[in-house]
Amino acid sequence: MTSPYYRPVKVGLGTFAVALCAAWAWRQEAKPTPVASPFVEARAAIIPTPLIPDLAPPRVAPEPPKISDDPTDAPRIHFTRTFDAAAFRRGNLHSHSNRSDGDSPPAEVYGWYRAHGYDFIAVTDHNTFTNPAEFVTEPQADFLVIGGEEVTMRGGGREVHMNALCTRRSIPGGTFPSAREALAHGVLEIRTAGGIALINHPNFTWGVKASDLAAAAGSNLIEIYSGHPFVPSDGRPGSPSHETMWDMALTEGLDYTGVAVDDMHRLRADRRRVSRPGKAWVEVFADKLDAPTICEALENGMLYSSTGPVLRRVRVTDDTYGVWPVDHNVDVIFIGSGGRVLARRRPTGPESSVAYGVVGTEGYVRARIVRADGKVAWTPAVRVHSTGVPRAIANPTAPQTRPPG
Ligand SMILES: [Zn+2]
Ligand SMILES: [Zn+2]
Repeated sequence: MTSPYYRPVKVGLGTFAVALCAAWAWRQEAKPTPVASPFVEARAAIIPTPLIPDLAPPRVAPEPPKISDDPTDAPRIHFTRTFDAAAFRRGNLHSHSNRSDGDSPPAEVYGWYRAHGYDFIAVTDHNTFTNPAEFVTEPQADFLVIGGEEVTMRGGGREVHMNALCTRRSIPGGTFPSAREALAHGVLEIRTAGGIALINHPNFTWGVKASDLAAAAGSNLIEIYSGHPFVPSDGRPGSPSHETMWDMALTEGLDYTGVAVDDMHRLRADRRRVSRPGKAWVEVFADKLDAPTICEALENGMLYSSTGPVLRRVRVTDDTYGVWPVDHNVDVIFIGSGGRVLARRRPTGPESSVAYGVVGTEGYVRARIVRADGKVAWTPAVRVHSTGVPRAIANPTAPQTRPPG
């Protein structure tokens, strides 16, 4: 994402009214009285003409902060959730077999991912539920297939797709007057079936706009990167990237977790313009590899996504967001509300963490880890709760060095 801001700062009606009142008060104060007096003339002369007369700030010195002995008056700034993840399970949440438009049977899809270091997959064919029990004849300790399907809909004449994950039955698709109605249908059906809803490739056929995403409230996940060559994850002029759409949703209070997928269709072909496996994945925070554990982590958005960088640990404490990249030759960019870049740091070496200390104005914090070859990893967004004034001093420039433990 190269353009962190996608819209001007939102000014609430109350803020605007306060600004107008302050400007009005200042104008009343600055207006010379009709009574001629040397004091009044001198006072008027030293008040410069404001650049924007109607919105000039009041010329009142700020009051010094009150000092209280009451500990309950202290500012309370903290992350709203904490976690410490050092065990990861690599999975792909979006893949196709020849039961829809893929080129290989489900068992071969399963076999490819198992042979290439993945821990789990969901086979998500178009409007076709794939029950893992059909081709996984006995439970495997080292590999898991979760139930899945790509609920394939049309909304407003364009493609609107959602993945149903951890489901046990098929979900109906359909054609709807708008993308919002399609999304609302998909979420309702998937949740009713006990599944987890993933908003797929919003920019595919430009089917889902950022303003539509509120209609999918109740889904947990949104694709921010797709390896499918027909999906313009980076957007186009006038249409934001998937990652920017994620920030827009987060800024609006929608708690989606961003996922990266390969949307694999072709195991056999080796042409460039086909969706090949292994281009992007998720690393779910999970100590165990079983469906309840993986599905609960997906439900809670406990994962990071990647097209390459690997993390050894992700930890969010009450006041600090830390990541431990395995490859230290990366830029770690901490991002907050509105896509604002909060800090940009580099690890000092292998085994070193990169940390961001919360100050209270972020809204939320997430990390984007960019490797020298352009491959990216994205960690979950965690909201910041603040009941006090922002901290003045935080985030020393030197990253902390601490091996994961
Ligand atoms: Zn799709
Ligand atoms: Zn697909």
